[in-house]
Amino acid sequence: MRTPIIAGNWKMFKTVAEATAFIQEVKGKAEVDGVESVICAPYTSLPALVQAVKGTTLKVGAQNLHWEDSGAFTGEISGAMLKDLGVDYVIIGHSERRAYFAETDENVNKKVHAAFKHGLLPIVCVGESLEEREAGKTKDVCRVQTEAALQGLSAEQAAQVVVAYEPIWAIGTGKTSTAQDAADVIGYIRERISAVFGGEVAGKVRIQYGGSVKPNNIREFMQKEDIDGALVGGASLEPASYVQLVEGA
Ligand code: PGA
Repeated sequence: MRTPIIAGNWKMFKTVAEATAFIQEVKGKAEVDGVESVICAPYTSLPALVQAVKGTTLKVGAQNLHWEDSGAFTGEISGAMLKDLGVDYVIIGHSERRAYFAETDENVNKKVHAAFKHGLLPIVCVGESLEEREAGKTKDVCRVQTEAALQGLSAEQAAQVVVAYEPIWAIGTGKTSTAQDAADVIGYIRERISAVFGGEVAGKVRIQYGGSVKPNNIREFMQKEDIDGALVGGASLEPASYVQLVEGA
């Protein structure tokens, strides 16, 4: 009953020309019935992408936003501005932002609220470091990050959140969690959401796996009932590979 969602996280890659050429390549192909397909691009490409996906089922996402609508925040972009462009989704709390740009659980929560305020759907990233995994803290870390991110949302809002479980040690490393491990952690995240918002909400929240997902391993993850899609970095940059990911979902 949950629609699987494949989201490409382009990170800091692609010029405007490269971004629009990508859409021309994947149009029609990365559009599969019953699968949602979202490209999350750098801010600079968003206006061109919103135009390029018109008339397709592809959606466009940003990779961050500021929680204020406007103000003296040099270099930042607000949810109001993203909505104005016609963006649908926004990634919030990616581990790279947590690690390199001092993103805290508190900021993540403010950003999630800002996204809803402006009619954007958040893709909230959670996940443990290798050190935390080895110390047996994976579930604790995911619980704390998930509960903090969703704090204060209405049930209706919480049900629309997409959570991306991304073990940090699996991002860009070619190492993946096993599908079973990922499904266990994702099942636990769903349980915690159920504890806070109830079973009906938890049954609606889509939870992706992320971390070195490729065309050759997407199916293993998608076979798990609790895994509702993938957030994909490296393998989302090539049109042919992206199409295979969407088909694999
Ligand atoms: P990766 O990145 O697919 O290149 O491991 C995933 C992510 O950072 O979202």
